[in-house]
Amino acid sequence: MPDRRMRRLLLGAAAALSVLAALPARAFSALAGWRVGTDGVVELRTADYTSVTASYEAGSGGRGPRVWFDLPGSPSRPRGVLGGGPVRQVRIGQPQPGLTRLVIEFEPWVEIDPARLKLEAVDRDTWRLQLPLYPGRPYLVLGEGSLETPAAAPVLRPRSLDPTALPTGPAAPRAPLRTLSPGDLPQVTRGRYRVVIDPGHGGPDPGAVGIGGTQEKDVVLEVCRQIRDLLQSRGVEVLMTRDADIDVDLPPRAQLANGTGAHVFVSVHANALNMSRPDVNGLETFYFQSVQGKNLASAIHNSILGTVRREDRGVREGRFYVIRATRVPATLVELGFLTGADDAADLADPAHRRQLALAVTAGILEYLNQN
Ligand SMILES: [Zn+2]
Repeated sequence: MPDRRMRRLLLGAAAALSVLAALPARAFSALAGWRVGTDGVVELRTADYTSVTASYEAGSGGRGPRVWFDLPGSPSRPRGVLGGGPVRQVRIGQPQPGLTRLVIEFEPWVEIDPARLKLEAVDRDTWRLQLPLYPGRPYLVLGEGSLETPAAAPVLRPRSLDPTALPTGPAAPRAPLRTLSPGDLPQVTRGRYRVVIDPGHGGPDPGAVGIGGTQEKDVVLEVCRQIRDLLQSRGVEVLMTRDADIDVDLPPRAQLANGTGAHVFVSVHANALNMSRPDVNGLETFYFQSVQGKNLASAIHNSILGTVRREDRGVREGRFYVIRATRVPATLVELGFLTGADDAADLADPAHRRQLALAVTAGILEYLNQN
């Protein structure tokens, strides 16, 4: 038995690395969040375009079996979290300036087999690695990493935060600017268009988790189902990348648009920042490079801003996989911040979600009419 083996497992996607090289030095750790599920799945949330390196050490000759992940940027605070089952503890530290290392230390009886460890990028900001399973010994981590990194920090325009002004209970949803009904939706030629709707995340990947425990995957699925029904009522064919609480990889989401002759692709998400930043709220809509994508993004963005009360964080270029890999006009809309006090109250409100679905649908139909 080799008593100590070390090896790099896997680098992040090559595309991510090339973008990383162009980024300025990070002020914050790219580690936005992490968890180890009882099922032994390690999930890392990172700032966009971040590369992650996973390394491991096995056997008894070294410091014991462990797996660690290196990410750019310095952690806000080094810390250790006690574990249970196969996990002894989890530590987040800074082995050198500008580097964050998350180390999972295992009990001595855990066997780390490099051939079975695979770090997978499952979303632009989500990485997963399955640890070896031991029946009857669930992975326990006593506490979960916080969203420590404002991934969107460079574009934040925070209001000054008065602690006495923080909400003490659930805020009330804001009244819409106008109240849309299905009859207000634009008409398009029936039977002519095919649209792919992409509810983000799903299954074991909740996406953003916000105030009150609201999960992004649930909010966006419900809104997307409404969008589908509304589009269908106007004679538009709709394909959904998921219509259940399941995990769908990103390539098949893009493929659904590329392989079906769809006219547009609309990915629906909700943002999260940090539970201590309820002051950050707003709508942001992304496209990738194409004018048509920008027009689609703008149509949806402006329709939402004209319907509900939402801070305008802009229509912006983004490199999210699903809008890069789609060869049809594509957009990714972040409906609001689940960690924002104002947006979270809105997004938890069924009437508000109905207005969002109507506004997104109106934007899609307007775009189809003009293109
Ligand atoms: Zn998302």
